Amino acid sequence: MSERKINPASLAAQAMGWVDDKTKAIVEPVHLSTTYIRDADNQYRSGRGYARDQNPAFDQAEALITALEGGHASLLFASGMAAATAVFQALAPGDHVLAPKVMYWSLRNWLMNFATHWGLQTEFIDMTDTEALRRSIRPGRTRLVWIESPANPLWGITDIAAAGEVAHAGGALVAVDSTVATPVLSQPLSLGADFVMHAATKYLNGHSDVVAGSLTTRADSPFWQRVRANRAYLGGIVGPFEAWLLTRGMRTLFPRVRTACAGAQAIAEHFSQHPLVEQVLYPGLPSFHGHQVARKQMQGGFGGMLSIRVRGNKRKDGNAEAAAIATAARVELWKRATSLGGVESLIEHRASVEGPGTPAPTDLLRLSVGIEDTSDLIADLEQALAASQT
Ligand code: PLP
Repeated sequence: MSERKINPASLAAQAMGWVDDKTKAIVEPVHLSTTYIRDADNQYRSGRGYARDQNPAFDQAEALITALEGGHASLLFASGMAAATAVFQALAPGDHVLAPKVMYWSLRNWLMNFATHWGLQTEFIDMTDTEALRRSIRPGRTRLVWIESPANPLWGITDIAAAGEVAHAGGALVAVDSTVATPVLSQPLSLGADFVMHAATKYLNGHSDVVAGSLTTRADSPFWQRVRANRAYLGGIVGPFEAWLLTRGMRTLFPRVRTACAGAQAIAEHFSQHPLVEQVLYPGLPSFHGHQVARKQMQGGFGGMLSIRVRGNKRKDGNAEAAAIATAARVELWKRATSLGGVESLIEHRASVEGPGTPAPTDLLRLSVGIEDTSDLIADLEQALAASQT
């Protein structure tokens, strides 16, 4: 190919344009082998000896994610959690970590209840407040600042560039869970982050049929090499078929995310003035705290995730939580399920999932907007909200 710059959407559509050398197929085969031939003189000139860390099945997906994020290298993992925890596991006992108060609940629970066992000291702060971050950094002790933006399930926006400056000035690394933003809308490495993580289970794959995760680094470093070595030793790797499916899913990443963003924006605007809705939480609404920062660091949309807070004002008991649960119970087109980022729209009463300690108000429904016709999604929510009041 010439030196002409190829846009990320084109790279994704063709999964980097790779062609199988042997067959000239435009879709790479699934590499199932767990082991590779050693040369007669005892070398491994192919660069591959064993599939736990050297499986060619990972190469195309990792190369594409690296290109989309503008990074140095990427690693696939068995899940988003495996990718996220790999970063924390590369830290040393006694290291101080700053994480958001509002973040993906499983990772927050792991940091609170498990990471402490090998001496990680995690402090949870309002990461959307750069001054709070500045006050919380312990220079020389804080080794990592973990950011999620937009952050589950209230969709708060962290100013990644500002947080990165503060963290780096204090000697800390910055990692961003960019699952909800996707590389279509935001590139945290270009904003100064050191690592970007995706629950590839979500938008990257996009079809609710693969569990996977990814990490991308801005530069090679001893820390990154520790992450890489940990993946090889601990073996939290994705299977070859899942890696292949993930590559296939990413070919349609851009049109899927753009459609989901348009749908989420329309749904947010429609329900923001609704008599049965207390509040719509969506970074694309000008009234949303963080909208201005989102405009600065997200291009082409504000994501496919939003939450609505349901009113119970027309019910006899006036119970907003019961109204929210009843709304989720009465949808017909939306699917009542956890997860996000698939082509089908999902609805979930988030407080029921997260349990005690959740920042989600009990009247909150989390919506993952898929690629269905938006008017169908709005009509279905309208009838479910009306039915929730009886
Ligand atoms: N990060 C975010 C923002 C998520 O929503 C999730 C899963 O819901 C994860 C991380 C964890 O990903 P996985 O379920 O693939 O382990």
